[in-house]
Amino acid sequence: FKGNPKDMPGKSIYFPKNIHDVLEKRYLLKDETGRVVEDPEGMFWRVARAVSMAETFYESDPLEVEREFYHLMSSMEFLPNSPTLMNAGTPMNQLSACFVLPVGDSVTEIFNALKYMALIHKSGGGVGFSFSKLRPCGDVVGSTAGIASGPLSFMRIFDVATDVIKQGGRRRGANMAVLSVHHPDILEFICAKNVPVEGEGSNPLENFNLSVAVDNEFMDKLAFDEDKHDNNLTGNLTKEGSPGSDKSKKKLNGSYYILNPRTNKIVGHLNAKEVFDLIVENAWRTGDPGILFMDEINRMNPTPASGKIEATNPCGEQPLLPYESCNLGSINLAGMVKNGTVNWNKLENTVKTAVHFLDNVLDVTNFPTSLIKTETLKNRKIGLGVMGFAEMLIMLNVPYDSDEAVETAVEVMKFIQDHSKKASEELGRSRGSFPNFKDSLWCKKGFKAMRNATTTTIAPTGTISIIANVTSGIEPLFAVSFIRNVMNGTELLEVNSLFEKTALERGFYTEEIMDAVACKGSIQDVDGIPEDVKRLFVTAHDIKPEWHVKMQAAFQRYVDNAVSKTVNLPHHTTKADVRRIFLMAYKLKCKGITVYRYGSKTEQVWYLKEFK
Ligand code: UDP
Repeated sequence: FKGNPKDMPGKSIYFPKNIHDVLEKRYLLKDETGRVVEDPEGMFWRVARAVSMAETFYESDPLEVEREFYHLMSSMEFLPNSPTLMNAGTPMNQLSACFVLPVGDSVTEIFNALKYMALIHKSGGGVGFSFSKLRPCGDVVGSTAGIASGPLSFMRIFDVATDVIKQGGRRRGANMAVLSVHHPDILEFICAKNVPVEGEGSNPLENFNLSVAVDNEFMDKLAFDEDKHDNNLTGNLTKEGSPGSDKSKKKLNGSYYILNPRTNKIVGHLNAKEVFDLIVENAWRTGDPGILFMDEINRMNPTPASGKIEATNPCGEQPLLPYESCNLGSINLAGMVKNGTVNWNKLENTVKTAVHFLDNVLDVTNFPTSLIKTETLKNRKIGLGVMGFAEMLIMLNVPYDSDEAVETAVEVMKFIQDHSKKASEELGRSRGSFPNFKDSLWCKKGFKAMRNATTTTIAPTGTISIIANVTSGIEPLFAVSFIRNVMNGTELLEVNSLFEKTALERGFYTEEIMDAVACKGSIQDVDGIPEDVKRLFVTAHDIKPEWHVKMQAAFQRYVDNAVSKTVNLPHHTTKADVRRIFLMAYKLKCKGITVYRYGSKTEQVWYLKEFK
């Protein structure tokens, strides 16, 4: 097709009203009076056109590519991350979701990071920071002979600034704060969400996810105490950072060092088990902190010559070097099944076009600052992932909590990984490799060219999965029916369409049964539903927590970056369960782990009808 894509014959895209509302509120362009001035097709054409413009740099035909990209998105087989859908082809034109900014130990560096954060939030991106280089609270300030206020105090400034920017009302600012387990303020950090701060209301640091950066040394020290573990907190950690008043308990072998980052000197020791238990306790109470396994992240760092990775983006799926950014996109796996089997041909073609799309994004995006542009283009990281894995499994007749599901995860992700590498290698040959290629793991592994230092990431797909009408990322069904709290005050009642279809086909669709399902979310205790259907439509709370971790680890095996996975736990989950999950994630070589216990946050995105 040559000519103006607007004139191209094509079927109009139908969205149910609730999804259309999301598009109108967040994605479709509006004029100065707030009137919506494009329809969903117009949005996909706008994005396709803007992203295909990169072709002009490589002397290929943008019109053909534009049409290919339009089809890729409008068929819902692939969607790029929200900033691309929102901003492509607009004066803003900032298309990436993930950024990491360094925070240096000086007022100038801290407030530079704050300024860059504001610019990134304004454009719809999320930012991760490592605060580990900041001198601790109570340390000296040389130039003023004053006392340092520490990482936590500065995080509060970043938090308030995030509230103020609010990303033009379309996307809330999201941040990740990482602190090394060796930092002197680590105990305060671990408890930061659990200790209301004066004047801040009951939800401190609400624009931050927190992650403790642990290393293998810490985990080894923890193993030393494992056999004596009784699943109870000893309760003798004090806020000042002393691991306990009873010195006899402080066994040297279970203790690890605490380092002042300003002087690089060891200033004390903490007991690994007690610190770990405090992490578990707080994660159980509030969902924060999560853990990042930094040695595993750096073991897989594709460009070690460029330095160590210290932080990830807000939801943890994208480890990045300072000032790097990454654009994500996800394949809708529900669209990759035909007659009960995976349509490998279609998946292969989708991967190829998606990699091409994401690589183009790097050429056309308007980076928030020149430093971010320089650092990002050295490695050209992209993050292709998936959504609708739960639906794929149901269509393949495989229950999520089964070995067969884990094997399917490995098979599908390995396929995507292999073909994304092939696509990136081809682009590398025609367009040139990423500038750091010669020093990268890919070159060492024998690749002759590679366009992108990473190609795969499993994003949470929080909003794009709503547009595609599938379960987010690699999560199991959250509930067979549930109310989704989309944006301030907007609520959607959703019944899983595959379940509805099955109920009709198998003849158990009655108002009584559908009402009972809508109340409970889970179908396990609803009478009148066949056992095999109950087995297939398991929800996040029906399955044992271990399956969440096994699934995360299965995907991680064939993902360059990391895997966003919320280990959704029922309210009655114990601290011992959380502890077990964290240790299992480490053993299975996950790059990080987060848990979320139902009802442990005052405002959550999903909830079941009966809890309302
Ligand atoms: N993100 C953000 N604000 C939000 C949601 C997400 O800044 O309200 C960023 C964050 O870095 C997150 C990434 O976008 O890790 C991807 O999130 P998700 O896949 O949920 O975004 P979607 O593209 O579905 O909107």
